[in-house]
Amino acid sequence: AIMLSLRITPFGERKKQRLVVGRDITKIYHLNMIRRDFVANASHELRTPLTVIAGFLETLLDAPGTPAQHRRPLTLMRNQTDRMCSIIEDLLTLSRLEMRESSEEQESVDVPDELHLILQEAQALSNGRHDFESRVDETLLLLGSPPELRSAFSNLVFNAVKHTPDGTHIQVVWQRGIDGVEFSVSDDGPGIPPEHLPRLTERFYRVDRARSRESGGTGLGLAIVKHVLNRHDGRLRITSELGRGSRFVCRFPGKRALIRDDRDAIPVD
Ligand code: ADP
Repeated sequence: AIMLSLRITPFGERKKQRLVVGRDITKIYHLNMIRRDFVANASHELRTPLTVIAGFLETLLDAPGTPAQHRRPLTLMRNQTDRMCSIIEDLLTLSRLEMRESSEEQESVDVPDELHLILQEAQALSNGRHDFESRVDETLLLLGSPPELRSAFSNLVFNAVKHTPDGTHIQVVWQRGIDGVEFSVSDDGPGIPPEHLPRLTERFYRVDRARSRESGGTGLGLAIVKHVLNRHDGRLRITSELGRGSRFVCRFPGKRALIRDDRDAIPVD
């Protein structure tokens, strides 16, 4: 089979005619599939040896006979292996998201419940350094995949903790929007320079490589968020102003939203 990408543009005098340009993208499609499979296989193959290394490092660190001067280098090695494990887990998550076109496990996700858990974890991660506020519509549920939505929402909340300094105010909102429902995370942190905004959801794209590494980021979080939203008919909007803060909004159409009811969940509109 041949895959075509079609573009239709107005053409000719008074633009009454139409010009149809077809491009054979079969090769691009296949190359993309090869890349996808390669990343998935490589990540999978790396996981086992890394788990073994991490296990032995842990044993050495726990052993009473380990000389004191070896503890620091061993701890550094353990931290770096942990980082590699997180990157591999995120790459595997992304590959899984790419393999399937749309979310197959469709169930009503108790977003308020998930958000309470995520906020608890975020508060533990922040350790009192941030000031949290949440406005969660307890009646709103969403049709989709629980683990995928959990990972998207937690990535955004944890980012606000990881990439902002002490004393930052973080606001998490889950509410009805203009035509659908929306989840948003806003912070009054340092903000993101505008030239970076269009590229933030690319894999491994980070505004400040060194700082992001320090905060334990893999650079894959927002790529995961974007893929999850695509699979839930959702859209991610990022706005930010230097010195004022950033805002990440996930919008979902009304057909995905459900109202919690004593008997059953019913569509919003
Ligand atoms: P990471 O693992 O580095 O968090 P992400 O893909 O989740 O990777 O985010 C990409 C980059 O976007 C981050 O490295 C950081 O520079 C920037 N970023 C994300 N969220 C925020 C935020 N709330 N405030 C400032 N910068 C942010």
